Amino acid sequence: FAKLIKTLIEIQNILKTVQLDKGAPRLPSIVVIGSQSSGKSSVLEAIVGRSFLPKGSNMVTRRPIELTLVHTPHSTETYGEFPDLGLGRIRDFSQIQKTLTDLNLAVPDRDCVSDAPIDLRIYSASVPDLKLVDLPGYIQVHTRNQPRELKDKIRGLCERYIQAPNIILAVCAADVDLANSEALQASRRVDPLGLRTLGVITKMDTVEPELGQAVLRNQDYPLHLGYVGVVCKPVTGAHRGSSGTTSRLAARLGRGGGETGGEPLTEQQYFQLHPAYRDDRQLRLGVPTLRSTLVGVLESHMASHLTELIDNVQSELEEARYQFKVHYSDQRISAESYAMDTLDQLKRRFKDLTAQFGRHEIRREIRRMLEERAMDVCAQVYWDDAHVKQLAELTPHVLSALPAMHNYYAMAHPRGHAPSSSGHGAEVNGGGNGDQYGQPLYWQHKLERGQSLLTKSGVGRWSTQLIVDTLLRNLRGLVTEPPLTYHPGAQQLIMQFSEAMVRDRYLLAVEQVENTLKPLKYEAECSDAEWREARERTLANLRREVSLCTAALHRLQEQVGKRKLRAAMKHVATLARDPHNPVELAADSPLARSIRTARPTVPAAVAEVVEGPGEATIPVGVVESVGSQAAAVHNSSSETAGDYDDPHGTVGTAAAAAPARTTTPVVIDVDDDSGTDSTPQAVVYSPRLLDLARQALYLRHRRVALKYRLAATKFRACKSQANRVLCPEIFLHTLAAKLASHAVLFIQVELLNEFYFQFPRELDHRLYYGLTRPQIYQFARENPQIVHQLDLAERKAKLEEVMQKLLSIVHETSGSGSGVGGG
Ligand code: GDP
Repeated sequence: FAKLIKTLIEIQNILKTVQLDKGAPRLPSIVVIGSQSSGKSSVLEAIVGRSFLPKGSNMVTRRPIELTLVHTPHSTETYGEFPDLGLGRIRDFSQIQKTLTDLNLAVPDRDCVSDAPIDLRIYSASVPDLKLVDLPGYIQVHTRNQPRELKDKIRGLCERYIQAPNIILAVCAADVDLANSEALQASRRVDPLGLRTLGVITKMDTVEPELGQAVLRNQDYPLHLGYVGVVCKPVTGAHRGSSGTTSRLAARLGRGGGETGGEPLTEQQYFQLHPAYRDDRQLRLGVPTLRSTLVGVLESHMASHLTELIDNVQSELEEARYQFKVHYSDQRISAESYAMDTLDQLKRRFKDLTAQFGRHEIRREIRRMLEERAMDVCAQVYWDDAHVKQLAELTPHVLSALPAMHNYYAMAHPRGHAPSSSGHGAEVNGGGNGDQYGQPLYWQHKLERGQSLLTKSGVGRWSTQLIVDTLLRNLRGLVTEPPLTYHPGAQQLIMQFSEAMVRDRYLLAVEQVENTLKPLKYEAECSDAEWREARERTLANLRREVSLCTAALHRLQEQVGKRKLRAAMKHVATLARDPHNPVELAADSPLARSIRTARPTVPAAVAEVVEGPGEATIPVGVVESVGSQAAAVHNSSSETAGDYDDPHGTVGTAAAAAPARTTTPVVIDVDDDSGTDSTPQAVVYSPRLLDLARQALYLRHRRVALKYRLAATKFRACKSQANRVLCPEIFLHTLAAKLASHAVLFIQVELLNEFYFQFPRELDHRLYYGLTRPQIYQFARENPQIVHQLDLAERKAKLEEVMQKLLSIVHETSGSGSGVGGG
C-alpha cells in the first residue's frame, strides 16, 4: 500500500481546491495540537528529519500549517515548496523557516491568529507520505505579549480543526501531568472515546522510566489509538535517568560511566538503555514508530471514507459534465487555449491588415501626401506671386526658345548645385526690370525652384512617418477590438513593442528613402501616360483647392458679416497700396492654417487682387473694442487715426479714446445699415476685424490665382510635358508620383516587411511563450465571458482526475485482495 496513502493525499489536496457540497464527505487530516513548549515543533521536525519551524520564546504560530510530506524514493534531493507563493523549490531549510516566520508576522496583531492555512510541501526520500496540520500551541499563561484574547482565539481555531473526521495528534510532555494536558482535554470534548486521537508523549527522557512506562500503558487516560513515547532531543547526562542501572547500562554501551558527562544519547539508545522500555514489548516508542503509526492511522481512516467519497465525486462529476455540455457544448477550453486562440485571431487580423496595407495602398497614401506638399510648393512659388497671371500668357512658341532644362542647370550651376531656394523673381533675373515676368527664363527658374523645394522637403522623413503613423493607427484599431478589449495590459504591451520595433527601423528607412530620391532632385522624366494621369489629378486637386478657399471665405463672411467684412477688406486694401505700410497675413493665423495646415506661405502683397469692378463701396466705419491690441491698431493708424497711439493698451473703447484734435470718428453700431452713407468718415477698425479682413483678402487673392491656374492647366499646351514650364502644377504632380513610388519601395523593404515578419513572432513570444502559467491564467481570467467556462472546465478536469485516482485505488486494493471502504 505504499502508493495508497500517497494517492489519497494527492486526492485530498486536489479536492481542497474543488468546492464540494457542504455535506460532502471529506478525507480526514491529522491535526497536531498541544500546549506551548510541549515539544510539538520538535516532534514535527523529528518526523521530517529537518529543522524548519520558527522558534523563539516570543514566536507564536499564528496560522495553521498544512504540511504535506511527499516520499520521493528515487530522488536524492530534499526540498520544500510553498505552492501558493510560487517561490519554487527551496533547498535551504532555514529559508523555509524564515518564510514561515514572515507569514506568521504578517498576521496583524489585532487578529491574533488567522484561519488561512499555509500550504507547505516537503519532498524527500527520507520522509513518509503523510499530511499533518500544525496548529498554534495552546498558551497557558497570558502575559502582556500574549493577551487573553489570543488564548481564546487559539482555542477556537483548534476547536474547528479537531472536528470529525480529522485525526487528532495530541502532544503532551512527559513531565506534565496528563490530567493537565490541554491537548487531551480538548480531544476529549470532541472525541470522548479517543477513537480518532493518538497521544504523543514527548520528553520521555525527563521522567523516571517506570513513570514513563505507566503513562504509555494507557491506563489513566485511555485512548483507542494509544500513545507513542518519543525523545526529540539528544539526551545529555542530566537526563539520563537517576537509577543505578542507568550508569551500568551506559557503561555497557561504551559511553563511559557516571551520571553526568559523556556523549549525548540518541532516542534509540536511550530507550535501549532502560529495561522498563527495552523489555516492554507492548509499548510504542520512538519517532520511527510514531511515523509508521501515523501513516497507518491516516491511511485506514481515509480508506474508510472511500466508498462514500467515490459516490459523491461521481455525482459531482456528472453534474459538472452536464453543465459543461449544456452551456458550452463540450467545447474544450483552458487558459492556454484561450490565450492561443486570442493570439491566433489577432494574427489573422494582422494578416488581413497587411494585405490591405499593400504596396499599392502605401504608394497612394504617400502620393496623396506628396501632392499636398506639391500644392504647398505651388502656393509658395506661384500662387502668391502677383504675376502668376503672366505665366498663362506665355506660349509654347516662346518656350521653345528655352534651352533644355538640364542644360540650363549645367550653365547656371557648373558645380551641379541646385539653385538657391530663397531666390525671389527679382533675384533670378538680377535686374528686376518690369518685363521680367513675361520672360520664360523667369518661369523656368521658378519651376526648378519648385522641384527643389518639393524634393528637398524631407520626403524620406515625411513619407516614412506617414506610413509608420498609419501602420500604428491601424494596429491600435486592431488591438481595441474584442476580445482584446478585456486585456488592457496586453493592448498596451502590443503597442509598446510595436512602437519599439518601428523605432528601431525608422532612421534606416528614412536614410534609404532619401538616398534613392537624390537623382530626382535634378532630373525627372516621365512617360506621357504618367503626365496625363498627373494632369487629371492636378485638375482635381486645383478644383478642391478652389472650393477650400471658397468655404473658408464663407466662414469668414458668416463670422463677420458680409458687408462689414467687405468694408474692412477695402480699408486694408487701401492701406496695402501704401508701400510704407505692408499688409501681411500672419503666417500662424488660425485661418491661414485652416486652409491647409502645412502651407508655409505668407502672401507678399494682397492689394492687386481686390481692385475689381463692383467692389467700390465706401468704407463703413466700424468701431469695435480696441482692447489691449495696441500694436494692431498702430498698424492701421497712419490713415485712419493718425494721432491715435496707445502703446500700453489702456484705452477701453475707440470712441472714448478718439483724439479730439482730429476728425471725431463716427461711431456706427455694428448692425446699423449705413453702408450707403456716402460721407467718408474717419473710422477705427478693431485689430481683430483687420486681421480677419486680411485673411479674407488673402483667400480671395488665392482663389483668383487658382482659377487662373485651373484654366491654364486645361490648356492644350499642358497636355504635353514638353511645356512643363507652363504647367508647373502638373510637373510637380508627376514628381510627387515618382517620389512616392521610389519611397514606397524602400519603406516596404526596410521597414514594413521586417515588421510584418516580426510582429506575429513577437506577439507569440510576449503574450504566450514568455509568460508563466499563472500569468496566462490571469490573462484568460481578464475576460469575464471566459471565467465561468474556465472554472467549470477546471472543476470538471479536477473531478475527473480525482475520480481516476479513486478508481485506481479501488482497482489496486481489490486486486490485492484487501477490501477498501465500508465506512
Ligand atoms: P513547542 O512549543 O510545543 O513547539 O515545543 P518545542 O518543540 O519548541 O520544545 C519546547 C522545549 O522543549 C524546547 O526547549 C525543546 O528543546 C525541549 N524539548 C523538546 N523535545 C524534548 C525532548 O524530547 N526532551 C527534552 N529534554 N527536551 C525537549
